[in-house]
Amino acid sequence: MKYTIAIDLGGTIIKIGLLNNGQLIDRIEIKAQSATGLVNQLPDLEIAINQLLIINDIPKGEVIGIGFSFAGLVDSSKNRILSTNQKYDDAPGIDLVGWAKEKWDWPLFAENDARMALLGEWQYGAGLNCSDLVMVTLGTGIGTAVLIGGKLLKGKHFQAGNLGGHLVVNHRGTLCTCGNIGCVEAEASTWRLPSLLKEHPRFNNSSMKNEEILDFKALIDHSAKGDQVAVEVLDHCLSAWAAAFISMIHAFDPEIIVISGGIMKSSSFILPPLQKKVNELAWTPWGKVKLVEAKFPDSAALYGADYLVRSSLGI
Ligand SMILES: [Zn+2]
Repeated sequence: MKYTIAIDLGGTIIKIGLLNNGQLIDRIEIKAQSATGLVNQLPDLEIAINQLLIINDIPKGEVIGIGFSFAGLVDSSKNRILSTNQKYDDAPGIDLVGWAKEKWDWPLFAENDARMALLGEWQYGAGLNCSDLVMVTLGTGIGTAVLIGGKLLKGKHFQAGNLGGHLVVNHRGTLCTCGNIGCVEAEASTWRLPSLLKEHPRFNNSSMKNEEILDFKALIDHSAKGDQVAVEVLDHCLSAWAAAFISMIHAFDPEIIVISGGIMKSSSFILPPLQKKVNELAWTPWGKVKLVEAKFPDSAALYGADYLVRSSLGI
């Protein structure tokens, strides 16, 4: 039996999985302290990994390696973090490979979290049997990754396919956190939604004005009940996402787009109108790109990490 350890380092939660050939055997979640840096969190990771081994009675010699998923730009040839965005900002200076070697004598393979989730969905989930797919996570921001001809798209500086959340869908639009104008996540994402609603000229007449949390769940609830402001703002978001999807279809020529993220809890309200817009507006003479809900919204990166370790070692 050869196991892998998967680490998915999120901004609020860190997931640590024990896997065996595509099977998630066990997992532990710990609270992330992303603002105070990664060095301070490594001892917690070490404890959690050792705990997983003890609970499941697995000697460290039966583990073949660690797959390390990180929300930032990652050099997956050197297995180092290249660039962060307000989370674990000390990570580019940390030798993760050396850490895993010193603690357990295991190899470590790092990859961007969106690419890792894509690998998981491709190998075990919604992207099974596809060679060309785009993965999109609609969450606080928007994360993307691209697979072309069965290979992750990486580019010269490891950022190709990762910045789909910063595709411009409105060149006269909103200032984005990245400094550009009208990126899709500045037009429609969880961080943007509250201001988007409050800027609507009829927000004060909307049933949403008494909502404490202005998130997509509330938006969809109020829209379903016929609140006109909610209907218009939801349509704006769907149009922004569709525009980004169509740009990715034109750029990357995928068979399917796998969609994940918190917003997909309301997928029955989101997917049909998105599919309709994409069908109408994308230039794909060969057929239609299917929008598919992710199979592992919560754990795709763990499955992807297992695959990355195995494929990197040729196992
Ligand atoms: Zn941007």
